[in-house]
Amino acid sequence: DLSVEIPVNSKDELGQLADSIRTLAREWNHLRRERSEFLASISHELRTPLTYIKGYADIARKNSHADNGTYLNIIYEEANKLSDMIKNLFDLAKMDRNSFQIQKQNFPLLPMLEQIEHKLSPAFQNKNVTLTVRCKKNILLLADPIRFEQVIINLLDNAYKYSEPHSHIHLNVKKEEGIWKLIIKDNGKGIPKEDLPYIFERFYRVDKSRTRSLGGTGLGLAIVKEIIEAHGWEIHAYSQEGVGTTMEIWLQGGDIIEETAARR
Ligand code: ADP
Repeated sequence: DLSVEIPVNSKDELGQLADSIRTLAREWNHLRRERSEFLASISHELRTPLTYIKGYADIARKNSHADNGTYLNIIYEEANKLSDMIKNLFDLAKMDRNSFQIQKQNFPLLPMLEQIEHKLSPAFQNKNVTLTVRCKKNILLLADPIRFEQVIINLLDNAYKYSEPHSHIHLNVKKEEGIWKLIIKDNGKGIPKEDLPYIFERFYRVDKSRTRSLGGTGLGLAIVKEIIEAHGWEIHAYSQEGVGTTMEIWLQGGDIIEETAARR
């Protein structure tokens, strides 16, 4: 750590300068610790799937008559996980360099949500989880369609991952107290109160061992938040352990257009 001891405590300009330098040093140390924790997390996260890939590839190449199909499947899945994670890391790095740009355009919201529903429902059937989408027919959204889809898929995927079989997930688009909101509600395991403030942080996971088996990396919500904020929107999380989680995206008023029926 950078240690600065300035024996100046006066209230004058020199004292203020000393205060500023002490604050800077504290910030510097904080950032350095954060960077080091971040690198440690990355190394760990990248190494885990690689360990599986190497291990099973080794078994497969040594035993020609062993159950290579199983090993190859694991290798394939873990390699997929790795490439997802690397893609996420690239996204975050781009966001950090401020070279992340979104391209907003108008598109009808309901067909977009239905398309996402269509993409996810085969996977949701594995756990018999149902998804209900409610959105007025005539809404146009101004957003980056690719990034918007990424956000919704990420949130729905979390809702699914942390739900028991036979659960319900609701996606509603509605105006509440003058604000257009996109609300994703699940009745899954919920998030403990003490963890809730941190879930948008990089690599933060509530239950490290359990979520590992669910294939999480803790990067999803960090990216979701960056994308939401790049749009000028807000995301709010509400949750109660054992009851469920609600994620609300508060859209900017100007980004929603309700088409009138008499449009030619
Ligand atoms: P992960 O890849 O682990 O899902 P995320 O950044 O998407 O990472 O989420 C961070 C953590 O927040 C998760 O590990 C999980 O503990 C918690 N979480 C996110 N969404 C939900 C949800 N819908 N229900 C319960 N827990 C959730």
